[in-house]
Amino acid sequence: MIKRILVTGGAGFLGSHLCERLVEAGQDVICLDNFYTSQKRNIAHLLGKPNFELVRHDITHPTWLEVDEIFNLACPAAPGHYQYNPIKTMKTSVLGVINVLGMAKRVGAKVLHASTSEVYGDPTIHPQPESYRGNVNPIGPRACYDEGKRAAETLLFDYHRMHNTRIRVVRIFNTYGPRMHPYDGRVVSNFIRQALQGEDITIYGDGSQTRSFCYRDDLVEAMLRMMDAPDDVTGPINIGNPGEFTIRELAELVVDVSGSSSQIVQDRPLPEDDPLQRQPDITLAKAKLEWEPQIALREGLTRTIEWFRSVDMDSFRAPTPNY
Ligand code: NAD
Ligand code: UDP
Repeated sequence: MIKRILVTGGAGFLGSHLCERLVEAGQDVICLDNFYTSQKRNIAHLLGKPNFELVRHDITHPTWLEVDEIFNLACPAAPGHYQYNPIKTMKTSVLGVINVLGMAKRVGAKVLHASTSEVYGDPTIHPQPESYRGNVNPIGPRACYDEGKRAAETLLFDYHRMHNTRIRVVRIFNTYGPRMHPYDGRVVSNFIRQALQGEDITIYGDGSQTRSFCYRDDLVEAMLRMMDAPDDVTGPINIGNPGEFTIRELAELVVDVSGSSSQIVQDRPLPEDDPLQRQPDITLAKAKLEWEPQIALREGLTRTIEWFRSVDMDSFRAPTPNY
């Protein structure tokens, strides 16, 4: 049966792919976005479709849409974006989520929320299982995002306990792919843009900090499976690729795959509270969603670099000066 599905943050990097998959599956899709960190070009190809609708709205203000399911992705995700206006980031994570959950309660919709590996902060347990409660600095520059997302998880579980709202919480680890904003300042987009433009590749710190990179198609597949999972699968569930790489290894791989002559340089000290290591334990996702990533980093980077080559990077508006 066709469902009416709302995707908040639907014009963003992940949201636009989710919208695409849902439109292809024949669902009735509403994409809601305030275009803070994205541009209409991400969903321009969907605009003429009879089962796709675009609403420009900010989730920090209430709205009312009669839908069956909500994927709540609205939130700046890149550190440079969420730190640019930290109070707004916190409002989006808290007031925005209260608005989304209030609407879900009234219309009886199921809500999947995009949480993050940042709820683990700079982790002291490695790899990170969902049972780990994290090591977050509540007053540092990343706190607006980390604590905002932690408060959002609390709200989801309180709505679930108090009002039986059907919830799904996924903790997303670093995800990359085509349609990342070239000026979002995230490591994959920065390195690829720098490699293609012949600029220095900027490692922060000594490059020994690690991340685990998931290709966006794998991630979106997991989100779709999570939404369709039985109601007792509330999560939180880690979604990410367990392949762990140092940032220096990533830089070398980008240079290799792109054939760039850029130099890898140590550009600035490690930013405050930058997690030193990060790797998802995906035992739960394998068991509950029968999911694991299919695309290895080299393959995903090849596809991503191909996309970056195909767009005119000068035609993108930088959402913030932080890149
Ligand atoms: P993105 O910045 O490309 O997308 C976020 C979208 O939300 C943008 O289109 C933005 O304009 C919109 N938005 C922001 N604030 C809003 C508001 N108040 N009202 C309405 N729309 C708003 O980032 P993304 O990588 O696609 O991330 C999507 C979601 O996934 C975010 O919630 C993010 O926290 C989460 N996530 C992503 C990653 C990742 O590696 N990509 C990792 C962990 C969590
Ligand atoms: N990073 C880097 N050079 C850059 C951008 C980021 O070395 O040009 C580092 C950053 O300090 C962090 C890692 O890459 O250790 C991942 O950063 P990103 O902003 O992509 O996301 P995070 O996982 O920190 O939220």
